[in-house]
Amino acid sequence: MAHGRIPSLVLVTMLVLVPTSGCLGEDGLDVFPEKKGIPGGLTLACLRDSSFTSLVVEIDHAPGYRPYTSSAELLVERLEQVCEKPGGISVQYSEVNFGQQDSWSAQDVRDRGWDHKDGSPMDGSTLRWQILFPEGTYEDDSVLGVAVDASTMALFGDSIEQADGLLGRPSVEDVENSVIVHEAGHLLGLVNLVYQSPTNHEDPEHPGHSNNDESVMYWAIESTGLRNFITGDLPTEFDADDLADLAGLASGDIAVRDQLWP
Ligand SMILES: [Zn+2]
Repeated sequence: MAHGRIPSLVLVTMLVLVPTSGCLGEDGLDVFPEKKGIPGGLTLACLRDSSFTSLVVEIDHAPGYRPYTSSAELLVERLEQVCEKPGGISVQYSEVNFGQQDSWSAQDVRDRGWDHKDGSPMDGSTLRWQILFPEGTYEDDSVLGVAVDASTMALFGDSIEQADGLLGRPSVEDVENSVIVHEAGHLLGLVNLVYQSPTNHEDPEHPGHSNNDESVMYWAIESTGLRNFITGDLPTEFDADDLADLAGLASGDIAVRDQLWP
């Protein structure tokens, strides 16, 4: 019986500790109100290294929905260009049963995401981003990817699978490569999500996106409509205006808002 006792004690201890810690806050209902923020809410935490010296990108995929290796590699490469992370940028994969297979809302992505995060987005000196690759589609099934809060985004493989071009160019892999960088760009605050660019490069018809169809932040990148708007190679890079915005945010030349940190 002794074996059964230790887990019970641990459980009881946790139950006692949690409400006690929660008393530090004024809201008795939400014991640990997690600040989820908005896309771009951890921009400075990523761009600068003053508090977070490494970045872990947690990829939680449904069985059979693991992304192409090239997508994760490209993402790390693009982030290394803009985020100061002397401790490195790494990717951790987990296979997850989300318990949801059909239609996803932004709130579903947020809820299932936070259910499965392996650590807090601000975990000591490590910043943690999370990308879900679930089964099913977004509620608007022309959407290939979404960024839903400061640390969480999702790519919808079932829709990406349908979004390749005629004769397979761009290929499904090309599309996934571009969409992953695009959504990461939103987590970095592009375009004008948490700042106002000194350059006029936001598409007024598609807020939060670039007006340059050679930027990965062009609106059509996250839509099945991309094959109708882009011929040849899909952009996978931030353009000069995107990079100038990120550099300005990092240096403090561009004012930033809605940050979870500092
Ligand atoms: Zn977008």
